[in-house]
Amino acid sequence: QAIGEGFIQRVFKDALGMDIQLPLPRLTYTEAMEKYGSDKPDTRFGMTITDISDLVENCGFGVFADTVGNGGTVRGVTAKAGASILTRKEIDKLTEYVRGIGAKGLAFIRWVDDAPTCAFSKFLSGEELTAILDRMQMEKGDVALFIADKKKTALPVLGALRQEVARRLDVIPKDKFNFTWITEFPFFEYDEESGQYVAMHHPFTAPLDDCVQYLDTAPDKVFAKAYDLVLNGVELSSGSIRITDPALQAKMFSALGLSDEEAHQKFGFLTDAFRFGAPPHGGMGIGLDRLVMCMAGCESLRDVVAFPKVSN
Ligand code: AMP
Repeated sequence: QAIGEGFIQRVFKDALGMDIQLPLPRLTYTEAMEKYGSDKPDTRFGMTITDISDLVENCGFGVFADTVGNGGTVRGVTAKAGASILTRKEIDKLTEYVRGIGAKGLAFIRWVDDAPTCAFSKFLSGEELTAILDRMQMEKGDVALFIADKKKTALPVLGALRQEVARRLDVIPKDKFNFTWITEFPFFEYDEESGQYVAMHHPFTAPLDDCVQYLDTAPDKVFAKAYDLVLNGVELSSGSIRITDPALQAKMFSALGLSDEEAHQKFGFLTDAFRFGAPPHGGMGIGLDRLVMCMAGCESLRDVVAFPKVSN
């Protein structure tokens, strides 16, 4: 990572005459998802995600209370000074947008006049509404948008909604270069269909040292020595430190449900080589076309690739 960010600093200085301060900011995957609803967050603007589950778990609005009661979550974003642009009609369009990406609906509070209006206020007590307004840091002129769903759905939907709303309100500064490392990616994801944990990336990335103990017992507590470099919401690079210990590699295969035999058949060439000793190694690959796109202030790779083969 130090080499990667040193490279970035040098390129920005030489090509744009711009000083990039190191070390670049870091967010863990979990922090990025909780705050921005994305593992490639655009940190040029705020509008971060706020959890109001505890405030609504016993309220009279069934959509909220039932979701929390069933293990889900209610979270929202506040669009500061968004009320004039986010009219009821615009919010209807946003509702269609979030439905298109997997949400069941969109609840909102819109504060235009003296008192905020929201469709579900009749189900809330005055104190409950005030507590939500406080938590969302709402003032007159603001709009808050809420999604009630499983966390796995609510966070990415709010992440996409946050970006969409920022675009509509035109609050994304064009002249900023906000880099963020995303670290500590979860290793395994529970696949509800197969009832098994599956590797989120590939099984050769090393787990963080203090997570190795959970490989057999709690795969959801295993995080990877992996790091992505994100610029203005664009993933520039992915990187990781690889496993070089054959015993650990065998454990990873078995955590993924591969028998020793299958593992040897598929990857024996690698595990055999590890037995002779492999130096610790890792790396990252920066997508040069994406980097140039961001540096040139373009929104499409087609603008910076001489003979583009892709459509965006
Ligand atoms: P309904 O009870 O389906 O008529 O929904 C009442 C209001 O809550 C509507 O404005 C819906 O868009 C909104 N809504 C419904 N489901 C959700 C949800 N899962 N998250 C946020 N808002 C929702």
